[in-house]
Amino acid sequence: MIEIDRVSKAYDTRVVVDDLSLSVPEGAFCVLLGPSGCGKSTILRMINRLAPFDAGVIRVGGEDVREVPPEILRRRIGYAIQATGLFPHWRVEDNIATVPRLLGWPRRRVRDRVEELLQLLRLDPETYRRKYPHQLSGGEQQRVGVARALAADPDLLLMDEPFGALDPVTRLALQGEVLRIQQQTKKTVIFVTHDIEEALRLASVIAIVERGRLAQWGTPLDILENPASAFVAEFVGGEGIGLHLLALRKVADRLRPDETADGEPLPSETSLRDALAAMTRRRTDRLPVVDAAGRPLGAITLGDLVR
Ligand code: ADP
Ligand code: MG
Repeated sequence: MIEIDRVSKAYDTRVVVDDLSLSVPEGAFCVLLGPSGCGKSTILRMINRLAPFDAGVIRVGGEDVREVPPEILRRRIGYAIQATGLFPHWRVEDNIATVPRLLGWPRRRVRDRVEELLQLLRLDPETYRRKYPHQLSGGEQQRVGVARALAADPDLLLMDEPFGALDPVTRLALQGEVLRIQQQTKKTVIFVTHDIEEALRLASVIAIVERGRLAQWGTPLDILENPASAFVAEFVGGEGIGLHLLALRKVADRLRPDETADGEPLPSETSLRDALAAMTRRRTDRLPVVDAAGRPLGAITLGDLVR
């Protein structure tokens, strides 16, 4: 659990984090979402003590971060950033091994861990371990950056717009990897982005940040359904909010039980957005719905999607 308790920070006289309180439960995938300059990176950097703060307390696993020596703290907290921060003159394996070596792991264990992480990030160890960062694509560099952040198996992973510079296809692939790894390992992740689509795809819980304050905290569905202010409503999509909601809700939520329809059935876990796409493609306004085992559950209509 990470607790940010009434924390404030100013640069000179400008307050950039303003009496912020936030608790991130163990195992959450928390996304800090807000416009550029609202203080997201500063918040992450206060957690791992790259940035000092003026007031309040931050606790990680119950421990006040200011009572842990910064280098010890940073070995326990994975950190991945947009510009990867890979050391250009070090091979992939040496980059990934940075923290394990600082921790004095035996060679054999470091080697095995590098191999395991390359596989986890779907980089073939034989092909990649001896390459230098400049020999990799942007997406591969980010994979190595994520592997390095995970190297010493930290309980907490801080990610600062790690995929911001990638093309949409690579970005989608890496979002999928991070989500899979988080679900497998149950690590707590705090992920910064200004991209609502990315936030909705990843978050179990979203914190919306507005000028260094918490504007809203909740699940993606909470926030889209009940934006707490005009700022939040505008930021999470304005007029497009309905489309985001379609992507989050499932056919199961709008099902007409026991009714029937013709055509290839939709699994009940299909998003309403995909259901809409299927109806448009097949030129129909009604489709049957089945459960994961293919048993009929009912039907859904075009009207149900937008109700
Ligand atoms: P975000 O990550 O949400 O874009 P940041 O946390 O990077 O926002 O920055 C918050 C505010 O603090 C911005 O106005 C930024 O200009 C300012 N800021 C960030 N770092 C520094 C610094 N080292 N010195 C002075 N001002 C800074
Ligand atoms: Mg930032």
